[in-house]
Amino acid sequence: MKTKTVITTAMIAIAGMFSTPAVLAEDGHDHGHDHGEHAEAAKQAGPNGGKVIHSVEPHYELFVMEDRRVKITFLGEDGKCVAPGAQVVSGIGGDRSNPTKFAFAKDGDSLVSDKPLPKGTVVSLVLRVKPAADAKTVTERLSLNLADCPGCDYKEYACTCESH
Ligand SMILES: [Zn+2]
Repeated sequence: MKTKTVITTAMIAIAGMFSTPAVLAEDGHDHGHDHGEHAEAAKQAGPNGGKVIHSVEPHYELFVMEDRRVKITFLGEDGKCVAPGAQVVSGIGGDRSNPTKFAFAKDGDSLVSDKPLPKGTVVSLVLRVKPAADAKTVTERLSLNLADCPGCDYKEYACTCESH
């Protein structure tokens, strides 16, 4: 009985939005798509097209550049970049047996790693970010998939599709 009630309510709601029975039938197939668009709007890439990481304040964008160096950009409340201040960032990536250590230096309004990420489509990266001189270091463990996402304009690690 409960299921029947739910369906009836939904039918009334849809019928209210569209005037003809033909449109009503079509809308049943499109419904999932509408949900997808809403979810996508909530998930946003950073200003460079990278992944936004929320574990520290200010948040930062992690972006892998064309030459595979890692670019860290701190973001203000409005999502726009803010010049790095007292933040200290370091990282370790790649195979545990032969890891690559990264130091980050200021480059414009960002911090950029001194080395490229090791080879591979999926690269593990542990980032240590000290947001301020008197703040605790926050460790972020990432698995960066550098393949192009077929569903959006970004790489998989920064993908904005709702299905990932
Ligand atoms: Zn995507």
